[in-house]
Amino acid sequence: EKLVPDATTNVVCGFCSTGCGLNMHLKDGQAVSLTPSTHYPVNLGMACPKGWEALTPLGAEDRATRPMLRNQDTGELEVVSWDQAMRSFCDAFKKVQSEHGDESVAFISTGQIVAEEMAFLGALAKFGMGIKHGDGNTRQCMATSVVAYKQSFGFDAPPYTYQDFEESDVIVLVGSNLCIAHPIMWQRIERNRNNPEIVVIDPRKTETAVAGTQHYPILPKSDLVFFYGLANLLIERGWVDEDYIAQSTCNFEGFKEHVRAFDLRRVEEVAGISSDQMHKLAETIHRGERVSFWWTMGVNQSHEGVRTAQAIINLAIMTGNMGRPGTGANSITGQCNAMGSRLFSNTTNLLGGHDFANPEHRAKVAKVIGVEEEHIPTGLGWAYDQIIDGIHEGKIKGLWVLATNGVHSWIEQDRFKEAVEKLDYLVVQDMYANTETAEVADLILPAAGWAEKDGVFINSERRIGLVKKVSQAPGEALSDFNIFKLIAHYWGVGERFRKWTHPEAVFEMFGHLTMGQPCDFSGITGYRMVDDMGGIQWPCRSDQVGEVVEDNQRRLFSDGKYYHADQRAKFVYGEVTPVAEPTCDAFPYVLLTGRGSTAQWHTESRTKKSEVLRKLHPDQLYVEMHPDDARKLGVEPNSRVVVRSRRASVAAVASVTPSVSPGQLFMPMHYKEMNRLTKGSFDPYSRQPSYKYCAVTVER
Ligand code: SF4
Repeated sequence: EKLVPDATTNVVCGFCSTGCGLNMHLKDGQAVSLTPSTHYPVNLGMACPKGWEALTPLGAEDRATRPMLRNQDTGELEVVSWDQAMRSFCDAFKKVQSEHGDESVAFISTGQIVAEEMAFLGALAKFGMGIKHGDGNTRQCMATSVVAYKQSFGFDAPPYTYQDFEESDVIVLVGSNLCIAHPIMWQRIERNRNNPEIVVIDPRKTETAVAGTQHYPILPKSDLVFFYGLANLLIERGWVDEDYIAQSTCNFEGFKEHVRAFDLRRVEEVAGISSDQMHKLAETIHRGERVSFWWTMGVNQSHEGVRTAQAIINLAIMTGNMGRPGTGANSITGQCNAMGSRLFSNTTNLLGGHDFANPEHRAKVAKVIGVEEEHIPTGLGWAYDQIIDGIHEGKIKGLWVLATNGVHSWIEQDRFKEAVEKLDYLVVQDMYANTETAEVADLILPAAGWAEKDGVFINSERRIGLVKKVSQAPGEALSDFNIFKLIAHYWGVGERFRKWTHPEAVFEMFGHLTMGQPCDFSGITGYRMVDDMGGIQWPCRSDQVGEVVEDNQRRLFSDGKYYHADQRAKFVYGEVTPVAEPTCDAFPYVLLTGRGSTAQWHTESRTKKSEVLRKLHPDQLYVEMHPDDARKLGVEPNSRVVVRSRRASVAAVASVTPSVSPGQLFMPMHYKEMNRLTKGSFDPYSRQPSYKYCAVTVER
């Protein structure tokens, strides 16, 4: 009887970027259970196992409930008051800055906190504490798409609505295991009544490849050759939309010339896809009236991810598959608020999608948020990998890590761990004090989690959705927003952030910050409007509100106009480059990595708290290998093997399966040892880590 709810309210899910609506059933204002929202336009009554179990991690017994400071004599973490924690943090960071300069402290943030908190963190760190270098774990997932869209479209603007999944007649999925990584998006495809061709381009025979209608198992990291070859074939066959190219794009002739070198023989040699298969794919795209192209981490986490994403964009714009229902060049984000981070983290761009180097943008931002312009830096800080290098080089001595677990998740994990151990002072702000990163912290700040605070997330289709406080954080844990307020006070800059009183006040600033930008949401009057409308996609200018009310599932570029000054999309392309670590006699296998199951989320800081979710995936790290390789090596199914790279050796259970081709192995990213194997290499434009390829060997 105690658990019989007396009210229900909708809250957007806090795991992946799909952004499902969850009905929170409340008793005395506290969530006691949940069900997927039937009226939310994203998920239409569906949720994946993580969504169903979303309340469980909040009630975990091992939540961080009080600040803890490492005793320098005993080496143990000890409970302290918030006052002691704040004094220690500010004293330590100021000491480092006074001895080594302002640039000697940095922060690493997340796509998991609400946008108002992201903005507060970025503003406080950069405009209040003089921290120049800060980045987010979004560098691990979306940086590539950001750069690709900016260069191709003139702004970081995923153009689609999820409705496009239901309206395409050809759906091309590249490096995306949608069935398990974004299962509700897959369900949207299942609702498609056009009997669509579902083309999956992926080296692995993933769950999605099995469920699709055509699978092209390209060789790992042959994407660029494959897509340039496909573009060349479409051009040769005359299967391009010349009117669209003439009216809405530029630089096509250069692209056409560039891809001429990618004939079908080269594609077969490099990508392993035959000429017949290429003709079949080209015909499928040509015959489709509404072709949509979708990509995610298989593209983004690559040594040439930006150019690969742009090769996909080029296919969409040259065939005129943009701006109409069921079309688009569509990047699917990873985390619940990766899109919020892209606009408001104050790292890869100035708040609201602005440019640090542009004096007019700095003046506008300063005015809106009420800080002096002189406090706004005039350039970007370092990216994640550069911050790690900076620690190794002794340039960064203090690090503040929020809601992310880099010791587990960062590429070439041992190097990250070595870096944090070199720091003078490491602060971890998180829901749990026992993540691999928290375990080596000097100070732990206990933070409230999703549904324990208010704010907005922005999902993959640009929908701003509301998160509400429907559960009380345990002990003395505070919302990240309130922790930032405390830090501003103890740092002595509380007055500079006087406008940042509560999350909705910041959300109102977002309207002014984005005014006149492609991501304009100045027409949104407040949280109430977001809630009433079931989330709102940007743009939503004040003159667009009627349109938004009428159709809350909108796509961009329906008028054929892009955000570059000439209003055209640009064909961007480049040279094919070698992977950082090719296979060799000593390390003859390519290691592929990715998501393991729908029930696991990233480093499992939260999902492993749920007994239900734990039952839905193997509890041990495993490695998929082809039966031919297993036979050659004498490896029995389910036996223990050692996978070795130039950096580490890791024990795993052999999963013998034809889902991978001979010469390839696959390991899921959720288990803590896996990234000891990966090789720290990066896309040169986005600096996104290339998780999807390194050379390993495997032994019984
Ligand atoms: Fe949450 Fe993503 Fe699952 Fe939807 S698909 S319930 S947003 S984790």
